[in-house]
Amino acid sequence: MISEVNKDINRRKEVLIVDDEEVNRILLGAILGPDYNIFYATNGAEALEIIRERVDTLSLVLMDLIMPVMDGMELLNILRQEIELSKLPVVVLTSEFEYEIKCLQMGAMDFIRKPFELPEIVEARINRVIELTEDRRILEATEHDATGLYTKNFFLEYTQQIDTYKGDAQMDTIALSVDHFSMINEIYGHETGDVILKETGTKIAEFVKEHHGIGCHWDGSQFYIYCRHVENRKEIEQLCYAMADFDEKLRIRLRAGIYNESDNQISVEKRLTASRFACNTLKNNQTSCLAYYDSSLHENELLMERLLSDTQRGIDEHQFKVFFQPKLDIRGDKPVLHSAEALVRWQHPELGLLSPGRFVPLFEENGMMQALDREVWSETVKLMSHWQEDLGIPVTVSVNVSRMDLYDESNIDYLETLLKENNIPKERLHLEITESAYTDNQNIVNGVIDRMKAEGFHIEMDDFGSGYSSLDALTKMPIDTLKLDMIFARGVEKDDKKCRLVELILDFAKYLDVQTVAEGIEEESQYRIMKEAGCDVLQGYYFSKPLPSDEFEEYLIREVRK
Ligand code: C2E
Ligand code: MG
Ligand code: MG
Repeated sequence: MISEVNKDINRRKEVLIVDDEEVNRILLGAILGPDYNIFYATNGAEALEIIRERVDTLSLVLMDLIMPVMDGMELLNILRQEIELSKLPVVVLTSEFEYEIKCLQMGAMDFIRKPFELPEIVEARINRVIELTEDRRILEATEHDATGLYTKNFFLEYTQQIDTYKGDAQMDTIALSVDHFSMINEIYGHETGDVILKETGTKIAEFVKEHHGIGCHWDGSQFYIYCRHVENRKEIEQLCYAMADFDEKLRIRLRAGIYNESDNQISVEKRLTASRFACNTLKNNQTSCLAYYDSSLHENELLMERLLSDTQRGIDEHQFKVFFQPKLDIRGDKPVLHSAEALVRWQHPELGLLSPGRFVPLFEENGMMQALDREVWSETVKLMSHWQEDLGIPVTVSVNVSRMDLYDESNIDYLETLLKENNIPKERLHLEITESAYTDNQNIVNGVIDRMKAEGFHIEMDDFGSGYSSLDALTKMPIDTLKLDMIFARGVEKDDKKCRLVELILDFAKYLDVQTVAEGIEEESQYRIMKEAGCDVLQGYYFSKPLPSDEFEEYLIREVRK
């Protein structure tokens, strides 16, 4: 029964017989006809036409060498050069011994001598070539995925083989990731994401070809390369930016972590992990796309993994605490409380109080930040309501809005509902958006911020001066308050040029009719200079550190009594 089924499958396979002599065509047709669908051509040119038409369904080409119009060698040559046709197995019909080696070198799978041997032998040889080719195709299909690169298991297998034969050659293990891939997938959809991964695969394939290595698509947006040591780091940087032209809006960039120890004693898996550690240090790094492994990374990475695995529990058990740092209005004779900034901390049960610098970049990368921000906003607004209702103190508070939050418009609805439920007017909750977020994906981001502004929220551009916005660009950005980055306060008392720059920015802000805040004020002299230069509001350790909510509440009461 099974052999019957097999025969039936075989019968549907297609074989093309190319020979200018009719007698050969008839003979071969008679041998193979019962098992295959046969097509005939009398020279290379005719054959090529049929091949182009049926390349997806043909299982084999049986081809004579000496023919008019286009001979067999020429056809073999064309088939070898065109990628799509190169996988089609060709068996050559020869009567001259000296051509046999040449044909095999040119990519023929096998040859059959003329005059033909016993029909059973011809048939068996042809069946075998078809079977072998099909096995190879199946293997290739599992070896590579849609990106065209090796899949995990084959990559691990082949790195081991390379190690066995590489001799003294120094090898690099390179981990690569597509920056902000989850965000791209989220905003532009999985289809775009898939195209990006495929294109990345193509770029990596070109790179490994040049550097005698192999490439792998591990999963998600993670890739690996195992190749001869690359001395010139510029070449890897070029690979990282090879996708920049893919789409002007998306500005796709890869980041690469390199481990360049290729001692066979260290397992492949360990080398991959080490390169991945190095790669992970570049998350949210705007200035560099390349990092080398060093052993201190290991500890840091273990901590990161730990933090990630503890996050959900942290949220569920309310381990994240909101601190409040006062902002002071300095326009009058004495500084008076203007508002406060809500800043998150993680009260980790084993690791103690963690500052946001330790976990915010991590959460922005893995998509947790949105959930955490909503927690912070909700906690903040509830406290504002308590201060207003129970203490009679209406406080304005600014909360930080992560760049990731700007891609989900439902955050606006979330904030509106939250404020309404707690009876807090919109203008009392300021939204701080870091400068570099404005330049990420300008159209989308400005659109969302425009809507926030239109709905009545007060927008503060945070960390101005840390990114690349020009003063001119500021005129087009939707903002109510400009918050100067800490770098402006640092050392301003000793640096005339910086002082003049601050004056210039503050003047410009006045011209645009936006409020100004300077953060990071630690010294009285800095406070004086900022006041002199015309800054409206200051924030910094000189006035107060960020305080836990109960301490901030005491601060509030003291301030009001004053
Ligand atoms: P940021 O929004 O620019 O916040 C100001 C940072 O400066 C805070 O650091 C604050 O503690 C610190 N700071 C204030 N005054 C001084 C000073 O006089 N000297 C010095 N050296 N530092 C001062 P913090 O709390 O560690 O937060 C760091 C960053 O983490 C924030 O920068 C903000 O970008 C982010 N972040 C904090 N909380 C949240 C949050 O709830 N959501 C989001 N998305 N990001 C947050
Ligand atoms: Mg801020
Ligand atoms: Mg800031």
